[in-house]
Amino acid sequence: MTGVPTDPLTDDEIIAAVAAHLGLHDASDRLRLAGTARITRQPLLDCTITRCVESRVESGAEEKRPAPYDLSDRPVYDDLDAYDPGPVKSVHRHRTLRLVLRDSAREADCTECRHGRRQCPNCRGRGRQECPPSQPCTLCRGMNPCTACEGKAGGGRRGTSVEPPVPRKVRQPHVRIGCDLCGQEGTACPGCRGRGRMRHEECDGTGETGCGSCGGKGNEECVLCKGRGRLTVWQGATIVRAPVTESVDPPPPHPPWLVRRRLRNRGAWRAWVVADGDGLPAGLASHHRRAVERRLVRRKGEIAREVSVRHLPLARVELDELPARVLHVYAGHAEPQVMWVPSRRVLARASAAAAGCATAVALLLAALR
Ligand SMILES: [Zn+2]
Ligand SMILES: [Zn+2]
Ligand SMILES: [Zn+2]
Ligand SMILES: [Zn+2]
Ligand SMILES: [Zn+2]
Repeated sequence: MTGVPTDPLTDDEIIAAVAAHLGLHDASDRLRLAGTARITRQPLLDCTITRCVESRVESGAEEKRPAPYDLSDRPVYDDLDAYDPGPVKSVHRHRTLRLVLRDSAREADCTECRHGRRQCPNCRGRGRQECPPSQPCTLCRGMNPCTACEGKAGGGRRGTSVEPPVPRKVRQPHVRIGCDLCGQEGTACPGCRGRGRMRHEECDGTGETGCGSCGGKGNEECVLCKGRGRLTVWQGATIVRAPVTESVDPPPPHPPWLVRRRLRNRGAWRAWVVADGDGLPAGLASHHRRAVERRLVRRKGEIAREVSVRHLPLARVELDELPARVLHVYAGHAEPQVMWVPSRRVLARASAAAAGCATAVALLLAALR
């Protein structure tokens, strides 16, 4: 077992690592440390469970594609529940399998069209569509077209009695002219001659224009059969195998956040990938094992799973002769390593000092006011 860290760390290894960390090389020092050190095991766990979850669905209505449609690469089924799509090669892969019910595929006339063309839904086959016959005057925008009648004379309502004029170039846009509606001189907008509206140019005031959707033909290519007039129709089904991953929250005791963070990419983590049916690794701490096992229940549709486990042996060591620090000994690649964090006592004292400092500043500010 040379080069492989022992798992879990033995007390002797932990004491040896602490002694080396503190620069104590005498055997008597080690003996003293062994007698006074308080050692708590706090191994780290990183575990994800990936399940392959399968669902089988028969399509509600028959499937249709423009004919001829090649279905030769689709597997054929008789009983969807009994169909065997083969073993799961990787639980991490998403796989969609489309199948065809035996003897259900056939060709038929398209139900949505005649010979590949169908009536244009925009103009309902007329080839023309409605268009506004007039538009607001481009010069006065329909606002105050005549200072005398406001464009309301004649028919009583704007735009009823006299045809809106054809748009034309106005030489003197600011000079008011005679009104078409009330007959007053010098009161009307020179663009619309008092009407407020002009004839619509696109349709020349006819109120109709060629259908923009079918180009005036009244019909268009059928989208369902892509203009072929025939469809390939069959009863289909889909089998989906999808990966579903969940991570296991490690149960307490937890080392401090700072230690967990620093050890994310440090230390000799031991990794296993446990396939379906295999037991969890022997080196796993029992409380970790229980936490993982609790999550290993079969989920609905689960047909395979893989458990990825990473585990780092770690021990918390407190020494009476070193009250300011908490040492953490973890498995290293060659030998156990040590990192330390300030003890709770030191942190409490520091925060009390910080609070005292803030109070002093507040008093000083009050005094200066
Ligand atoms: Zn128009
Ligand atoms: Zn007028
Ligand atoms: Zn006008
Ligand atoms: Zn149309
Ligand atoms: Zn069609």
